[in-house]
This record gives sequence, structure tokens and C-alpha cells, in this order.
Amino acid sequence: MPKANPNPDKQDGAATAKRLVSGGVHADDTSLERTLRPRALDDYVGQTQVKENLRIAIQAAKQRGDALDHTLFHGPPGLGKTTLAYIIAQEMGVNVRVTSGPAIERPGEMASLLTVLEPHDVFFIDEVHRLSRVVEEVLYPAMEEQRVDVVVAGRGPGAARMLRIPLKPFTLVGATTRFSMVSAPLRDRFGSTFRLDFYTPDELKTIVLRSARVLGVQTDDAGASEIARRARGPPRIANRLLRRVRDYAQVKARGVITGPIAQDALGALQVDPLGLDGMDRALLRALVEKYDGGPVGLDTLAAAISEEPDTVMDVYEPFLLQLGFLDRTPRGSAATRLAYEHIGVPWPDNGKGAVQRGLL
Ligand code: ADP
Repeated sequence: MPKANPNPDKQDGAATAKRLVSGGVHADDTSLERTLRPRALDDYVGQTQVKENLRIAIQAAKQRGDALDHTLFHGPPGLGKTTLAYIIAQEMGVNVRVTSGPAIERPGEMASLLTVLEPHDVFFIDEVHRLSRVVEEVLYPAMEEQRVDVVVAGRGPGAARMLRIPLKPFTLVGATTRFSMVSAPLRDRFGSTFRLDFYTPDELKTIVLRSARVLGVQTDDAGASEIARRARGPPRIANRLLRRVRDYAQVKARGVITGPIAQDALGALQVDPLGLDGMDRALLRALVEKYDGGPVGLDTLAAAISEEPDTVMDVYEPFLLQLGFLDRTPRGSAATRLAYEHIGVPWPDNGKGAVQRGLL
């Protein structure tokens, strides 16, 4: 088991903090994200199945006059989990209260957050897998029976007693990048669980065009396609690339983003046509040049590029696996022929692929 990164969502590895193509939140994303966040389910691009299920669940809950079931979203950073929590609140016509797993240190803090919720409010907990056990236990009766149990100290030994505080019906919306780290008792208390997937280039293009409209940036079709293609899946990255390309276009091309301008801008930012940046290429190079293509264990590979093992697992590998550049084997990650070709190293013609996969 790799050591748990204290903050995998925010990807605090030194190298990653500056990465243009990481899905985690950068300090300068925040205010813009608020502007660009779609507010209604109809404006939320992609994730069709999730949207359809949510639409029905929301309508049914409203018809019955109930709170929506507790809902858990999981998937890599930047895919729109927080956005969905806000949209649910908006569609239900209720308030949203936002916190995150590591922000709540004591059971009492959790209890007081729960007791102020109004009927049907959305209580959003980001990084829900990082709640401590004792804090999480406050949630169990809250989710199941709408009550919190508070221990009140009495006078003298053994005089402590349990106070039951009833809660209003509410909806807990949890988000996690690490589904497997959400404890089973907590997972079981969510009525619905949805996995978000990477967006297709077409969906990202729609998001880029919408964001460009909101920001008042002129972008042609080819410009939006180019940004979408290199954004590698999460809308957060697409929006971030759009912002950087906008700067470039403003200085070099009177503010209009065309295909060639997007290509030049992203090339200058070292984001290649597939969306790989210098760190991805460094990882592939390390794998190919230092470890003969692998397989190599996560910790070793992470150390080779001075990154956190968790970041390599959560951020680098999913995308490289999706591109078919990596194989995950029981002994670690291995570079595929496509990866060799991408970094321009000849594929060793010695049955390596089969060896890697443990077939020989
Ligand atoms: P997560 O919580 O999964 O890390 P967020 O919900 O914070 O991701 O999404 C990051 C940003 O990406 C949002 O501010 C929003 O601008 C954009 N975004 C996410 N999902 C969508 C979507 N489906 N359609 C349009 N924009 C989206």
C-alpha cells in the first residue's frame, strides 16, 4: 500500500503544483471556476447517464416532497463533482453547505455543521475519504435516522450521558477521488453512487466554447478543438488551457483564438498534441531509459521523477493508461510500444511486450 498523500486532490507534489495539465485546483483557478461553473443540469455538459439518473431522482424527490437521497460522486480531480453538488442544490431549490474531509477535525464540529442544516439542504463533503473515523461515525445516525448523538459530560465519573439531537432531512453529497478509501459503512449509507468519467474531446470542445462565450473571448471551431484535444479529459484543465491560450492570443493575435494560435500557444506551454506535458514525458523517459520500459513499482517510478507516489497513481497513470502508453502489471507499470514511439525511442524487438506482461 503506498503511503496516503495528505492531500491527493490538491496534488501538492512540488513538481505538480505548477503543472498546467493537472486536474487538481490551482490557486488561480478558484475565482474563475465560480464564474464558469454551470448552474443547471441542462448546462452541465457530458456525463449523460449520471445526469439522466440525477434528473429523475431530483424530480421524484421533489414530487414526494422529500430530500434527495444521499449521493456519492467519485472520479479523478476536475471532472465536475463539486459542480454537481451545487447543481443538485440549485435544482432542488435549497442551500448548499460546503466542507471537506480534512477540514473537520472533531466530532463536535461535524455535529454542529449538521444541526444548522435546513430541510432538504445539500451538505457537500469534498474528499470524503479523508474524514477521520470518529468524525465519520457522527454521520452514520445522521444519514440513517436524521439524528446526532452527542456525549455530554456530567459531574463525577461515569456521569456522561448521550444527548440525541434530531436533524432536519438533508442530502449528504460526498465527493472522492479515491472510492476504495471510502469506508464500507459510509459507502453503504449513500443511496446513489455515481462514477464520473473523463470527457471526450467533443464534450470538452463544447465546454471550451461555452467558457469562451462567458469570458468574452473570440474562439473559432479549430481553436476550441485544439484546446479540447490537449486537455486530457477534465473540464478544469480545458478551462485552464483556454485561459492561457487567451493570454497568448491577446498578445500575439489581437485576442482571437484560432487553430494555429492555439497550437502555437500550447506548444509554447509544452503541452503536446496529445495533452502530455514535460512531466508525463519525463515519466515515460524514466520508465524507458532507466528501467528498460519496466515493469517498475510505483514508489520507484515516483522517486525517479521526484513526485508523490499517490500523484503518479491518481494523476499521471490514468491518462497514460487511457492513451495506451502504459500497462499495469502485478509488478508495476510498463511502457508500451506506443509510449516508446511517442518519445522517439526505438521499441526493443526482443519480445519485450510479452515479457512485460508476464507471458514469457
Ligand atoms: P471536481 O469537484 O470533480 O474536482 P469541479 O466540479 O470543481 O471538479 O469542476 C472544475 C471546473 O470544471 C468547474 O468549475 C467548471 O467550470 C468545470 N466543469 C466541470 N464539469 C463541467 C461540465 N460537465 N460542464 C461544464 N463545465 C464543467
